[in-house]
Amino acid sequence: MNGKITVFGAGNVGGAVTRRLIERKLCKKVVLVDRSPGKAQGVALDILEASPVDLLEPVCLSGENLEETRDSDVVIVTAGARRTEGMTRDDLLRVNAQIVGECVAKAARYSPYAFHIIVSNPLNAMCHVAMRAGQIPPSRITGMAGILDACRFQYFIAKELNVSVENVQAMVLGEHGEDMLPVPRYSTVAGVPVAEMIPPERLADLVARTRDGGAEIIRLMQTSAFYAPASAVIQMVSAVVMDKRKILPCAAYLQGEYGVTGAFMGVPVKLGANGVEQIVEIELSDQERQALGASADKIKQQLAVLGQAC
Ligand code: NAD
Repeated sequence: MNGKITVFGAGNVGGAVTRRLIERKLCKKVVLVDRSPGKAQGVALDILEASPVDLLEPVCLSGENLEETRDSDVVIVTAGARRTEGMTRDDLLRVNAQIVGECVAKAARYSPYAFHIIVSNPLNAMCHVAMRAGQIPPSRITGMAGILDACRFQYFIAKELNVSVENVQAMVLGEHGEDMLPVPRYSTVAGVPVAEMIPPERLADLVARTRDGGAEIIRLMQTSAFYAPASAVIQMVSAVVMDKRKILPCAAYLQGEYGVTGAFMGVPVKLGANGVEQIVEIELSDQERQALGASADKIKQQLAVLGQAC
């Protein structure tokens, strides 16, 4: 490991990720890249000006020159346009595919052995675009969504039962969107299945709130979430740079696992220094498998719009 991490996109998520990388001392240098003139420099300077009181090493650079990204261990892509009035979902898909494809193609030229974490939405399709644009092997690319969605589910369960979030484990699979699949059967409180502690109708409400988690934040603060997404990215980075071989729900490229071929889906993966070291297959009920299939169909429809369907 060279101790260098590149973050594309110095917006809300990219800025929060950069701050956390430095705080957690997960690398020696962060290179922040944005296409808006001055944005990456401004965010980097703002973080660095806190170093006298935060007592953090000033390791943040802003990269006008992509040469600075050379030999990064990890590349994190948070660059992406926001949906504006009059845009359809497909318009957003195309705009962000262009941006993500450009970023990863450039990144791969300077850091051919980096592990890539994609954050930009629509997440699963963007992972696919990035993999193709950078010709990245599936073991070195994954998307962040499952940890965030599982965190939301865990938090809602803990609040419902008035217990510590530390007691709660939760599983969320599938697409990052309305078709995501929170799985109560694999969600526990101090080892006890959550269905034994929360009545079905309340549990259904928590599942629905989890699916709607991103939209709830947007309704409240008029922009998408960034603190919790940044924390989720940090957990993935730490699993890779510290070779934790930790099982985490992430978007991984499926090649037959869970009956899905040729799409990135949220599944449990073992993350370590070699990237996606294993896709962990868990037993699913017929209903859960069907829901996962619907998730995969939706992702493949998005890929078809981009002309990237397998
Ligand atoms: P933002 O608008 O605050 O930041 C996006 C940044 O990307 C901007 O600074 C913009 O200038 C930059 N950018 C655009 N094109 C670029 C390019 N070609 N090269 C470099 N930089 C470029 O948005 P945000 O809130 O930080 O969200 C970023 C992306 O992450 C969005 O697509 C959002 O939907 C997604 N997101 C995903 C999750 C998840 O769970 N996967 C969670 C939150 C946000």
